[in-house]
Amino acid sequence: MKLDLGGKVALVTGASRGIGRAIALALAEAGAKVGVNYAASAGAAEEVVSLIKEAGGEALAVKFDVSRAEEVAEGVKMVEENLGPIDILVNNAGITKDTLLLRMKEEDWDAVMEVNLKGAFLCTKAVIQGMMKRRFGRIVNISSVIAFSGNAGQTNYAASKAGLIGFTKSLAREVASRGITVNAVAPGFIETDMTAKIPEKIKEALLSQIPLGRVGRPEEVSPAVVFLASEAASYITGQVIHVNGGIYM
Ligand code: NAP
Repeated sequence: MKLDLGGKVALVTGASRGIGRAIALALAEAGAKVGVNYAASAGAAEEVVSLIKEAGGEALAVKFDVSRAEEVAEGVKMVEENLGPIDILVNNAGITKDTLLLRMKEEDWDAVMEVNLKGAFLCTKAVIQGMMKRRFGRIVNISSVIAFSGNAGQTNYAASKAGLIGFTKSLAREVASRGITVNAVAPGFIETDMTAKIPEKIKEALLSQIPLGRVGRPEEVSPAVVFLASEAASYITGQVIHVNGGIYM
């Protein structure tokens, strides 16, 4: 099986922390040059770049808000000028604004949709033309188990993550003939800053539903992304890989 990404250029959105950080490090370990996108955490993004460089790889920290078209275009241009044309895009940046629908403000709905769903649209738009011209591309969208199971208090998040699944399948059909695959990874409960906010009681209830009996680590999600980005996954498109300890089957 060939998981060598030598010579490839990847852009990972939201790669300063959590799952995106682990994905950036894993893609670099497989040989890819990596654009490490972040929105606010410059120090954390630079640390990811340093780790990649110390291990002999190439990387660049690039600040842009995935929900702003002009910033995305600038950021993509910066990565391509410094590292080369983007072969692999991982739409990972995501946020939560959890509350019951009854209390959910329009701003909470919009913010989550803008980053999680529109962000993936804008970043994909910015790279897809180049991929089509070069007849190669790998797009991996980070969805969530919540897209499949639903979760009280997360109507906005669930809708955005389910939207990503429809986006993945539709785009997979649009660009398959150009050598581009589009897939999704749906993590379960992974230990990051995002899940650190969950109240202890809810965490305990969640844990009791995970057949593997524990939360996952970001490093347990990244291998699925490396696989989908690699030659080994050349006949896989429009699919979802669930990485969730069995909480949803
Ligand atoms: P996290 O620890 O909160 O990290 C979020 C990352 O996204 C950070 O790097 C952050 O950058 C970046 N980001 C946020 N808004 C952005 C924007 N507008 N533009 C660019 N970057 C932005 O989250 P995580 O747990 O690693 O989650 C990563 C992805 O996995 C998300 O899409 C999430 O929905 C999904 N997911 C997570 C879990 C889980 O259990 N943790 C489960 C299923 C799916 P800054 O550091 O600059 O703020």
